[in-house]
Amino acid sequence: MAPRKLAAGNWKMNGTLAALSEIDAILAQPAGCDVLICPPAVLIQAMAAKGIPTGGQDCHAKASGAHTGDIAAAQLKDVGASHVILGHSERRTDHGETDEMVSAKALAAHEAGLVAIICVGETEAQRDAGHTLDVISAQLAGSVPDCATAANTVIAYEPVWAIGTGRTPTNDQIAEVHALMRDRLSARFADGADVALLYGGSVKPANAAEIFAIPHVNGALVGGASLKAADFGPIIAALSAA
Ligand code: PEP
Repeated sequence: MAPRKLAAGNWKMNGTLAALSEIDAILAQPAGCDVLICPPAVLIQAMAAKGIPTGGQDCHAKASGAHTGDIAAAQLKDVGASHVILGHSERRTDHGETDEMVSAKALAAHEAGLVAIICVGETEAQRDAGHTLDVISAQLAGSVPDCATAANTVIAYEPVWAIGTGRTPTNDQIAEVHALMRDRLSARFADGADVALLYGGSVKPANAAEIFAIPHVNGALVGGASLKAADFGPIIAALSAA
């Protein structure tokens, strides 16, 4: 089984009910890849009801309890989510999430029947210091639980310095990290060769095709350009054609 191609949108803390009209435009276009939108949690139910695969942006590691403001994986599943983004760099930075916490959340997601999209990525300082491959290896080892399979896990390589900046790594830099991730996953998991690997960080219509041509890039996690069908549509089309 080859990894499935996935164009995943991360709306972050953007969008109200009015933004759901973008989904109609996205759904109007035939896609030759899986398409997923991860909106703010309050929009998941309404978005899923439109028939588009929908994901959360985080979940708690516990199944229920006294955790004000948090959302359990089973609650995401209950309102129609199929996926959940975990360990995004904004959560690692804003909420102090560690690899251990991300792994526990991924385990909870799997137990609830959700696909975990686990994010890894180096800071600019780490890249400048030549530590990128060590950082990615450590994040993969620490953030991906032992129960991960190609069916329940997707990995997104998102260099922190490329998120929302308009800057992207070179194609060679993306290729180097994706080859490393494929090697590490294949060494650890029986079906590691089939786990979908996404690139994320300033993917736009203008750079999508060349990024999707890089070996072991099976799709993208897209922030800003996923908010408008006019931008996300061409990215979906580029992945469909890749
Ligand atoms: C993201 O936040 O996951 C992301 C990739 O953002 P952007 O596409 O806006 O850089």
